[in-house]
Amino acid sequence: MEKMPVITRFAPSPTGYVHVGNVRTAFFNQLLAEHAGGRFILRSEDTDQERSKAEYLEALVEDLHWLGLRWDEGPDCGGPHGPYKQSERGELYSQYYDRLLESGDAYLCYCSDRELKLSRKVQLSAGRPPRYSGTCRELSAQERAEREAQGREPTLRFRVSAGEPVVFEDLVRGSQSFAREDIGDFVIRRADGSAAFFFGNAIDDSLMQVSHVLRGEDHVANTPRQILLLQALGLRAPVYGHFSLMVGDDGAPLSKRHGASSLRELRQAGYLPGAILNHFLRLGHKAANDDWLELEQMAAEFHTNALGRAPARYDMDQLGHWQKEALMRLSAHELASWLDDGDRNRVPNEQLDAFLELVKPNLMFPVDIKVWVDVLFGELPVPGETEQQWLDNAGAEFFTAASEAASQATSGETPSVKAITDAVKAATGAKGKQLFMPLRVALTGRTDGPGLQDIVSLMNPATVEKRLKKLAAGQAES
Ligand code: GLU
Ligand code: ZN
Repeated sequence: MEKMPVITRFAPSPTGYVHVGNVRTAFFNQLLAEHAGGRFILRSEDTDQERSKAEYLEALVEDLHWLGLRWDEGPDCGGPHGPYKQSERGELYSQYYDRLLESGDAYLCYCSDRELKLSRKVQLSAGRPPRYSGTCRELSAQERAEREAQGREPTLRFRVSAGEPVVFEDLVRGSQSFAREDIGDFVIRRADGSAAFFFGNAIDDSLMQVSHVLRGEDHVANTPRQILLLQALGLRAPVYGHFSLMVGDDGAPLSKRHGASSLRELRQAGYLPGAILNHFLRLGHKAANDDWLELEQMAAEFHTNALGRAPARYDMDQLGHWQKEALMRLSAHELASWLDDGDRNRVPNEQLDAFLELVKPNLMFPVDIKVWVDVLFGELPVPGETEQQWLDNAGAEFFTAASEAASQATSGETPSVKAITDAVKAATGAKGKQLFMPLRVALTGRTDGPGLQDIVSLMNPATVEKRLKKLAAGQAES
């Protein structure tokens, strides 16, 4: 038999900004296709007219592109199996509804929402899982006509007849078996004529020749329904793999309180695409090692065998680790885009690259860079309590010696930190931390940061002198 090309897809419902859990689904499907040299499709499952919004689809395309994901077919770029929005596929669907009605695999159901709710309630209180009770399964033509006359708008329901269990081989969970009695007849066309999830999802996978569906395990119980539906129509079903859902660091399903919950929020916070991808690759997918990987390397490494059933822990510390890794790989040019216009104007052009290189290891997010612009090229931030302590303990004598040493550098020349500390040491006997920390705090307002000589070398010599002089006079720079 000829080997089927690998075609995967991501099929979001555009009802909000794309959630990180769904981003991982998209990412894994892209990796699977790329690994096999196949194709990756984006399909918008927007049949819920009330909740689906065109602007959310637009935002999703933009956010996923920003992340570095690319698809071969989709609502934004077209392709041979369009349209790629389910809301535009109604005509395609109608022939399949007709066929199912004709073969008796589907029937019109006139039950109202209220009736269905009531039936669910009764079953639940009897301790049974709720299934469609079958009220409309065998309606006669006359019974149907009566209901039509009452103005009832029917849904179309798929008939799950008694028979052998539905079995399939899950790429992640192994062989699965579902008893038909547990499935119950399900709606495939809503009363307003739109396609229900099971239907559009299954039909489109088949029509778009999708070979592999990777999705969260919350969909595993939908799969037997979709397989039955495709079987009834003589359509090919894809291979399914259901991986574990993402949970927060406390093991609970991922939500707002675990940090960002949409890709857009991560993006706005300043996370870098590579950081997100490196973290997500390792969420529910075993990676060979902890080395930084580029997207092509991830695709080469990705394998469904490495997908796990254990809950995938979304971890802000891990994400932070990858953020640092991503940051170190940014070019000076890319990093410069973290400066807003105001800050950019405060950094002298000829110092820009050296400044960015220097402060890079001390950054995490774009907001962090502002502090260093202030420290090197602006006004010193008001010292915190710990910082003030260092200054107070050092005392005026310390800074008198320091400022004199700094001013001995001829005008415009970079003061030498060594010359300053030598002078202070000679004058006060201070050494070790007592010598270096007050000087660092005096010049930067902080106890951490890049090498002090490197900082001083980028600063205006006059600023260095001014900061030390103020302290020598017994007052902090304000
Ligand atoms: N629209 C469905 C969802 O967003 C697609 C599920 C699937 O991947 O099959 O959950
Ligand atoms: Zn009914």
